[in-house]
Parts: sequence; structure tokens; C-alpha cells
Amino acid sequence: MAQKTSRDIGPVVLLGPPGAGKGTQSKRIMERYLIPQVSTGDILRHNVAQGTELGRAAKAVMARGELVSDDLVCEMVKKRLCNPDCRRGYILDGFPRTAAQAGWLDALLDDKLFDNSRPTRAWPIVMSLDVDYNQLLLRITGRRSCPTCGRIYNVHFQPPRVEGICDLEGSRLVTRNDDRLEVIQPRLAAYEEQTRPVADYYQRTGRLVSVDGDRPADEVTAQIFRILEDQHA
Ligand code: AMP
Repeated sequence: MAQKTSRDIGPVVLLGPPGAGKGTQSKRIMERYLIPQVSTGDILRHNVAQGTELGRAAKAVMARGELVSDDLVCEMVKKRLCNPDCRRGYILDGFPRTAAQAGWLDALLDDKLFDNSRPTRAWPIVMSLDVDYNQLLLRITGRRSCPTCGRIYNVHFQPPRVEGICDLEGSRLVTRNDDRLEVIQPRLAAYEEQTRPVADYYQRTGRLVSVDGDRPADEVTAQIFRILEDQHA
């Protein structure tokens, strides 16, 4: 499935609510096309853990399940995309999350001074992972991760061999702070309110491809690879 290819793929945007499988699918695209995953949630969590200025500004907002300001996030993304490892392409995971961020990204990619995504393609391939609401709740509340190796489990769908313990590291699994039930509702509400317009934005410009995210992860991956290959055929 994850046969590697070093073809230039350009920017890839994965849209979908928390729990839709963006993280899992991003990693698979990354492994196949040898391009980095740029996850704004991961970068923000890293900054919070390190206690950086950005992390201190974002911490309370994230704990409430709200969105960090566009200015902070866009600046952070720009810095990341300037990294040479993004030249052949990259997967944006969790970004853009508002219509303003989508407009900002188009402007950035259109900027002749910012040529990381050229000459392959200026515009991202945008895929939306569509998942049933109840399925999402189970996926998020069941999610556990290993603090040592980062491996993700799900108590309902993909439990570890020993309850609460990582198969590989033996570490006690943790629930991410922003996966707690009281934070999920506002996160899903924020998604509906603010990120729907992003899908609409790309739909209007004919760039949105829908993927059925309710299907098993391997089938979703196969469909995503087909879409990426078709775009480059
Ligand atoms: P995620 O892991 O993508 O669900 O992100 C976790 C949290 O980080 C979100 O609930 C937001 O508080 C923040 N965050 C991540 N990406 C963005 C973004 N593009 N814009 C604003 N806030 C973000």
C-alpha cells in the first residue's frame, strides 16, 4: 500500500472535522510521497509543551477548544513552509481552518516570491474527509496516545493488547487534553461554524474532492492515492 515514490506532488490539503482520520491519512501520504506533514495542531501542541511565546499565547484558547487567531497560525505555517523539506510538496493537516486562512494560503501560493510549491503546481489538491457525527464522537473519545512514541490507539476500534498500555513502549497511554468530552462539543461546533466555509470556498472554485471517511482506513487511503495519481496523470 505505502509503496514509495519521489514524484513532486505539491501542496495537499486535508479537510475534515476532528476524528475524521486526517492524522492517519496524512502519515500514509507522507510515507508514500516522501513529503512532510504540516499539522498545525501538532506544531501548536509542541509550542505549548515547550512553553514558547506562541505556545503561551495559544494554550488557553486550545484548552477551551477554540481556534487560535489567524495571524498567529498563518505566521507559524509560513515559517514551516519555507523549510526546504517542503519543496516537493507537503500535506497540510488542520490548516486552513477558516475562510480567512484559505484566502491567505491562496495569496501565499500565488506570491511569486514564495516559490516553494513551484514549478510543480501552485494550487493545492483539496480533499475533504466526510464522516458520520456519531462515528466521530466514538473516534475522538476513544483516542489514546503513547507519550513516548506517539502511536495512536482507539479503545473502541484499535485497542492496545493490554488495556491502557502501549504495545511497543509499555508506557501508560494518555488522553489528549483537547480530546476530553467537554472540549469535543465546542471543537466540533467550531469546525461546523468556521471550517465549513473553507470547504465551501474550495467547492466554489471547483477544487474540492470529497472522500468517504466512514470506510475502513485502508480503503480511504486507496481512494486518496487514486485522487492524487489522477491529478498528476
Ligand atoms: P487539531 O489537532 O488539528 O485538532 O488542533 C488542536 C487545536 O489546535 C484546535 O482545537 C485549535 O485550538 C488549534 N488549531 C489547530 N490548527 C488550527 C488552525 N489552523 N487555526 C486555528 N487554530 C488551530
